[in-house]
Amino acid sequence: MSGNKMDQHREELDTLNLELLELINKRAALVQEIGKIKVKQGMKKFDPIREREMLNSIVRKNDGPFEDSTIEHIFKEIFKASLELQEDDHRKALLVSRKRKPEDTVISVKGTAIGNGSPQYVMGPCSVESYEQVEHVAKAMKQKGLKLLRGGAFKPRTSPYDFQGLGFEGLQILKDIADKYDLAVISEIVNPAHIEEAEQYLDVIQIGARNMQNFELLKAAGKATKPILLKRGMSATIEEFMKAAEYIISQGNEQIILCERGIRTYEKATRNTLDISAVPILKQETHLPIIVDVTHSTGRRDLLLPAAKAALAIGADGVMAEVHPDPAVALSDSAQQMDIPMFDHFMEELKDLQNRIRTEVPVR
Ligand code: PEP
Ligand code: MN
Repeated sequence: MSGNKMDQHREELDTLNLELLELINKRAALVQEIGKIKVKQGMKKFDPIREREMLNSIVRKNDGPFEDSTIEHIFKEIFKASLELQEDDHRKALLVSRKRKPEDTVISVKGTAIGNGSPQYVMGPCSVESYEQVEHVAKAMKQKGLKLLRGGAFKPRTSPYDFQGLGFEGLQILKDIADKYDLAVISEIVNPAHIEEAEQYLDVIQIGARNMQNFELLKAAGKATKPILLKRGMSATIEEFMKAAEYIISQGNEQIILCERGIRTYEKATRNTLDISAVPILKQETHLPIIVDVTHSTGRRDLLLPAAKAALAIGADGVMAEVHPDPAVALSDSAQQMDIPMFDHFMEELKDLQNRIRTEVPVR
C-alpha cells in the first residue's frame, strides 16, 4: 500500500520537475527579451535594485517549508543563470580561445613564422650590456641560422640595487645589431608609456612575468602594432594567463605569443617549476603560439637542454634561452646563461631532435 503511495508521489514529483523546467526556461526566454531591450536603450544588464525587489516580493509570499534564506539562494541562482544568458558572447568564450577561433594563429616576425608547426628559437643575453656583448651572441645565432634575438634593456629586478638595464640605449643597441645582421629583436617593456616609442626599435614587445597582471601595460600592448610576447606570471594559473592575453587581444592586437617560464612552487631544486603540461593545455584552449623559456623556468644550465627537448616533444612552438659571451661576468642571471660553445651544442642537439620528431612521430 505505502509502496503505491510512494510511486504516486514520485510521479507527481516528476510532473512538478517538468513544470519547473518549463517555467524556468520560460522565465529565461523573457529575460533574454528584456536583455535585448536593455541593449537598445544602452542600459546595464545587471540591476541589483530590481533583483532585491524581486527577492523581497518572493520571500514575502513564502509560507515554507523552505526558509526565506533558502528561497533567496535558489532564486538568486536562477537570476544569475539568466543574467549569464544575457551576456555577450565574448564573456562566454574568450577571444583567445579555440572555441572562438579554431585555427592556429601564426605570427610573422620579419618573415619568420611562429606557430606554424616549425619550432623557433628566441636566444640572446639576459641583459643588454654593450654593443660588443650583443654582437658576439648575434654572430653565433646567425651562424646557426637563427633569427630571433632577445635582450633585456628594462630589467625588472627583485632588488633596486641590482643592474636595472640600459633602457632606450639598450634598445638602440638591439636595433643597430638587428639592422646589421638582419635579425628580429625582442625586448621587455615595463612602462605603458614606453610602448609606442619602443615600437620604433623592436619587432616583438615582451611583457615579463612580474607584469603579467599589470593591466595598464596589457591594455597599452593591446593597442600596439607589434606582436607581444606575454610571459606567464610566476604565480599565475593558466586561466589567469589566458585572461591576461585576453586584455591584449580585446584592445585589438591579435598577435600574441604566450611564454611558459615556470611557476613558483615549494620546490627548491630549480629556480621555478617548469609547468610543461601548460603547453598542450594552452594549445588546446587557445589558438595562440606558445614557447617555453628554459632559462628562467629551470635556472640551471644543466637543465636547459633536457627542458628544451621536453618543450619540443610536447608541442611547443619555440624555445627561449639566454646566451652570454662570458656568463661568469654577466650583470644578471650569470648562473644560468649559456656561453657560445654550449649554445652551439644546444642548437645542434635540438635541430637533431627536431628532425627526428618530424620524420618519426607527429608532434601533435
Ligand atoms: C626575461 O625574459 O628577461 C625575464 C626577466 O623573464 P621573466 O619575466 O620570465 O622572469
Ligand atoms: Mn634573465
